Amino acid sequence: MALLFDSIVFGPVQSRRFGHSLGINLLPLTNKVCNFNCVYCECGWTNLKSQSVVYFPYEVICAKIKEAFNTLAQNSLPIDCITFAGNGEPTMHPRFNEIIDTVIEYRNHYLPGKPIVVLSNAALAGNKKVFDALQKADLRVLKLDAGSDIMFRKIDQPLSGKSLDWHISKLKAFKGRLIIQSIFLKGKHNGKSLDNTEEKELELWLNAIKEIHPESVMIYTLDRPAPEPELEKVQPAVLDMICKRVEKEGIPCKVYL
Ligand code: SF4
Repeated sequence: MALLFDSIVFGPVQSRRFGHSLGINLLPLTNKVCNFNCVYCECGWTNLKSQSVVYFPYEVICAKIKEAFNTLAQNSLPIDCITFAGNGEPTMHPRFNEIIDTVIEYRNHYLPGKPIVVLSNAALAGNKKVFDALQKADLRVLKLDAGSDIMFRKIDQPLSGKSLDWHISKLKAFKGRLIIQSIFLKGKHNGKSLDNTEEKELELWLNAIKEIHPESVMIYTLDRPAPEPELEKVQPAVLDMICKRVEKEGIPCKVYL
């Protein structure tokens, strides 16, 4: 069953990776909007039918954020970070760049020192405005779920059709100022097997990590129900093994269970 957020600002929620996280959802409340169609997405399948998406206006989003920041500041509620996440890919909002600027301004005023985190699949990182906006966040947590193009297409199903090489080249453009997030899983999709923990896949993924050389890597496995029912979690020992291989390359890595 798809999990969708029913508001623009949500939380603070207790996140396994980010602590007390105040979420910002720039996407519609009734359906997921994304340029990937990941087999594991907790928001469900991406609607592939062409339909025009109605985004919240910039003014409405900013008013909600300002109100939430003000309330949090007045009540001194515990908060570790402000996280752009929600019902799909946040960078798809046509005014993402300006929203980031405004959130930085509000954060500086109401919640100084709280880091702004963007969770993104980086599919729009080739767009200069999106790339610049991602650079302004305190942390960019960007997706790399595969080492081979075949596995990338099986797991993430990018709607643009762009290759994994293209995706990696965009991640490299951040010159190490990013965190990579990677899910590991196995199972089947459309009757075809899928396993990104196989040795050959892992080697390719590790090579890509070395090329991108991020600040750190976050790895995890399935946590919530996925739209594809034939997926399985990976054992913690496998995640630990992958983590050690990343650390051996001098890149900090952590497993999130
Ligand atoms: S990129 Fe994120 S929101 Fe988009 S389909 Fe994948 S998991 Fe879901």
